[in-house]
Amino acid sequence: MVKTGSLFTHLTCVECGREYPKAQANGVCTDETCRAILYACYDFASSTLTREELKRRPPSLWRYREFLPVLDDENIVSLGEGFTPILPVLNLASHTAGKRVLIKDESGNPTGSFKARGLCLAVSKAKELGIRSFVIPTAGNAGGALSAYTARAGLQAHVFMPKLTPQAFKAEAGLFGAEVTEVDGNISDCGKIANRLAAENGWFDVSTLKEPYRLEGKKTMGYEIAEQLDWNVPDVILYPTGGGTGIIGIWKAFNELEQLGWIGSRRPRMVAVQSRNCDGICTAFHQKEIRSTYKDEGFTVANGLRVPKPYADKVILQVLRESNGNSVSVGDADILVALRELAASEGLLIAPEGAALWHAYKELNRSGWIKDGETVLLLNTGSGYKYLDNIY
Ligand SMILES: *Cc1c(COP(=O)(O)O)cnc(C)c1O
Ligand SMILES: [Zn+2]
Repeated sequence: MVKTGSLFTHLTCVECGREYPKAQANGVCTDETCRAILYACYDFASSTLTREELKRRPPSLWRYREFLPVLDDENIVSLGEGFTPILPVLNLASHTAGKRVLIKDESGNPTGSFKARGLCLAVSKAKELGIRSFVIPTAGNAGGALSAYTARAGLQAHVFMPKLTPQAFKAEAGLFGAEVTEVDGNISDCGKIANRLAAENGWFDVSTLKEPYRLEGKKTMGYEIAEQLDWNVPDVILYPTGGGTGIIGIWKAFNELEQLGWIGSRRPRMVAVQSRNCDGICTAFHQKEIRSTYKDEGFTVANGLRVPKPYADKVILQVLRESNGNSVSVGDADILVALRELAASEGLLIAPEGAALWHAYKELNRSGWIKDGETVLLLNTGSGYKYLDNIY
């Protein structure tokens, strides 16, 4: 018999290995001394899906159905997310000579960012578990994505966003019917309020990596990168790191693809790119620390990167070290120059978070860390359109 459904088996704690059954709503590890993030596990050994069969499936992240945690198709809440294009950098040849530089452009996702992937999975899975009300602290895009998927599913979203977030993000969540609260502070301050209200009202907290399924949505970027590059992985991946779901998810994906026998053991060098005002991961990486320390020096045009202390900092730093990677922080002035350069030369009006990668690439290229003949993939996480208040 050909299995077509999910091969999800259980959850496991990344730190202590404790296992959790798939049939309950989970956050982080419940062990008081641990509290680490949970990974969804699958029975890869019994997968009968072939790469040839995969090729014939529709261009959405649901093509990886077996390796996603939603058990019943009826619970899938979809707006057409995933399978975004990988585009070569064409016209900035003075910077790309000798290298193959690619941009995976997530801006075409529902609500204009890769957050759609994560919230699509989180909402679908929560729906399956009977959850009706959600709360999220957000720098912008996650709130919009949550609100779109809850609207689609007929569920309720409560969104907490810093006051300084551009207007489009607030309007978007409001139009999708979410209850939007502006907070005088950063995403950590939003998180504290969200946390308290979740406990008081019985809302389900979908903060970055405090529930395990946004990660499952984000990991599909790793599946797509491998599939779209004909089951080769790039030499280097640059990723704009806030909470780190994407970088952790892509790494998880590559390990799963190796278990499936679809890729080998070679891995890209992973680069976490941060905003200068909020670069705790970058500092911790270069100082060889296991965890990061809280850092927030105020406004950045790349609001998605204003995460002063990622919950999964330890896992992010592990991925950077294990992959022989790197970390670069970029100031707002350089982000804006990079953004304009890509828009004017490549026709891509990308999010400031993604534009930071272009500057970081140029730096790593100039310093020789990126070598001739290498394939470099920049993961542009979102569209620039919602940021127009701040970028033009
Ligand atoms: C949220 C966000 C990020 C950071 O993503 P993480 O996976 O939390 O590190 C980067 N870029 C954009 C556009 C975002 O919205
Ligand atoms: Zn644990």
